[in-house]
Amino acid sequence: MKACFRLFLILTFSGVVACSNPNSDNSNTNTRCAQCGMPTEEFQAWRSKIISSNAVKHFCSPRCLFINSQAQGLAATDSVLVTDYYEQQWIDGRQAFYIIGSDVIGPMGHDLVPVATPQAAEEFMQEHQGKRILTFQQVNETVIKHLSIHSQH
Ligand SMILES: [Zn+2]
Repeated sequence: MKACFRLFLILTFSGVVACSNPNSDNSNTNTRCAQCGMPTEEFQAWRSKIISSNAVKHFCSPRCLFINSQAQGLAATDSVLVTDYYEQQWIDGRQAFYIIGSDVIGPMGHDLVPVATPQAAEEFMQEHQGKRILTFQQVNETVIKHLSIHSQH
C-alpha cells in the first residue's frame, strides 16, 4: 500500500513536470506530433524529429517517433533527432541510448528515455530504476507494444 502510494506520487509529479511549459509565449515552434497530434512545444524535454530530404516530422516523444518510423519506415538518409534527457539538447537518435522501464514518465506514459552516452545510460539506470538500455536498432515493435501495455494504468 505504502509503495503503491509512493509510485502514485512519482507518476503524478512526473506528469506535472512533463506538462509544464514555462515558454508558452514562444510560439515559433507551433508543431503537432506527426503520430498522436499533441502540440510538441508543450513537451520540450521529449521532443523528437525525423528530417528527410523533403519534410520534417515532429514528435512529442521518442515513443511516437518509433511508432511512426516502424509503421512508415526510415530512409537511410533520414536524420533522427531526439532530446538528451540530461543535457536537454538535440542528439543523433541513431547513436543514442534508450532506457525503458524507469520511473520517468513521458507525455504518452511510459517512454524510451534518450541519453547520449553509455555512461549517462548507466547513471540513469541507477537514478531512475531503469530496466533495460537499448540502442536505436534494438527498439522494435515488441518493445513499443510492451511500453503501451504498461501505460494503460
Ligand atoms: Zn506524440
